[in-house]
Amino acid sequence: MAPAPPNRPNLQSVATINRDGSRCFPHPSDVSGRFTRARRLTGTLLIAVYVLLPWIPLNGHPAVLLDVTAGRFHLFGATLLVQDLWLLFFLVSGIGFSLFYVSALLGRIWCGWACPYTVFLDHVFRRIERTIEGDAPARRRLDAAPWTPRKIALRALKHTLFALCALAIAHVGLSYFIPLSQLYAYLHHSPLHHAAIFTGVTLYATALYFCFAWFREQFCIVLCPYGRLQSALTDDDTLVIGYDHQRGEPRGKSTQPNLGHCIDCQRCVHVCPTSIDIRNGLQMECIGCAACIDACDSIMDKLQRPRGLIRYDSLRGLSGQPRRLIRPRIVLYTALLLLGAAVLSWGLTRVHSFEMSLVRLRGLPYLADPGHIRNQFTLRLLSKNDQPTTFHVSTENAPPSLTLSGLGETLTVPGGSQLQQTLMLSIDRATYRGPFKFTIAATPDAGGPTLRREVAFLGPDS
Ligand code: SF4
Ligand code: SF4
Repeated sequence: MAPAPPNRPNLQSVATINRDGSRCFPHPSDVSGRFTRARRLTGTLLIAVYVLLPWIPLNGHPAVLLDVTAGRFHLFGATLLVQDLWLLFFLVSGIGFSLFYVSALLGRIWCGWACPYTVFLDHVFRRIERTIEGDAPARRRLDAAPWTPRKIALRALKHTLFALCALAIAHVGLSYFIPLSQLYAYLHHSPLHHAAIFTGVTLYATALYFCFAWFREQFCIVLCPYGRLQSALTDDDTLVIGYDHQRGEPRGKSTQPNLGHCIDCQRCVHVCPTSIDIRNGLQMECIGCAACIDACDSIMDKLQRPRGLIRYDSLRGLSGQPRRLIRPRIVLYTALLLLGAAVLSWGLTRVHSFEMSLVRLRGLPYLADPGHIRNQFTLRLLSKNDQPTTFHVSTENAPPSLTLSGLGETLTVPGGSQLQQTLMLSIDRATYRGPFKFTIAATPDAGGPTLRREVAFLGPDS
């Protein structure tokens, strides 16, 4: 069956869906220019960061390792345990809110330049496709061609490479959750030895393959929630990619007099990965890739007209008014962002390698007999070190007759774990003069500051 003719972009329907509801695969034309080069460089750097982060050691651990099974999270040198998850809440919500902030200022800069989906699609999968099947017209011809041995070979090669890339991306993703040495060992075992992980990574790779081989721009157009939020996150002063109607219209051939600068060459449409016509105004399908800017700039260069008929500008700027950088929502977002950053910074200063807590045993506040008065506490020592840590526990600022029992001279906490111990503190009744405060100290033999907790010794009033 002959493929349906390409849809003409409009504001009433999505150009990548045919009228009969079938999919219309866009084949964006090649484009070159300053933004394309900058995006390519950014994309390559981001892919390198994604691949290398689990390999870069910081404080003896990968720069990022979310070891969920062990309940330990290593983030750029800091180690967080499950007890520190409240900090992750601030971190994750802070990242989400930063995205809102960036959107209010710079529109869909995230989508076009840094979103992992766009980065992998544009800089890995589309480049593989371009290398194997050729430029946009060649790919369209191949789509329409019958299944000859050449088409089967090209498609088999392309999809094999797609599948391998999806597997590689999924395994790199896994290395953020499983230490590399363990992951390497898994790769040399039968999948049945780690069926859950094998199933998970297979599903992840399959989803990636489906998205990058077939679903493609539809993810941004119909699925991504961030794209749906754009109209709420941006305003007339947000930096967007737009077409200068005042300068471009009325459009027409460059040889015709008294027309605008747009020659209606459709080049901006042909390079668009979501098949929209930016001249129809800002649209939800625009992912801010800036391909149409480069395309139009090259046309303007040939015509010896100034660049920027399509450009980064605000809607206000495109209509000839000055753009306002400072406005109420930016002030509010800035204040909230600074507040969140302050809370997170404060929280990070409270993350230590060792932690101690001391809780009075439930029940009677003290035990008294004719010879002694006793108080009981539950001591909890937590270590985030990999190796076992031995603590020397002692009392400070206490009467000489106060004795500590319930443990030997030292307590050893297993690596990345915690230990609870009941402490019995006892004082001779003859020397007891009433309730007093004292300190329990735990000194790690591995070095580091002594942990101290001040508690009250309770007993009869005199
Ligand atoms: S590339 Fe520029 S000149 Fe060509 S149609 Fe688009 S806006 Fe008009
Ligand atoms: S309209 Fe321009 S910036 Fe938006 S997606 Fe299409 S090519 Fe990219």
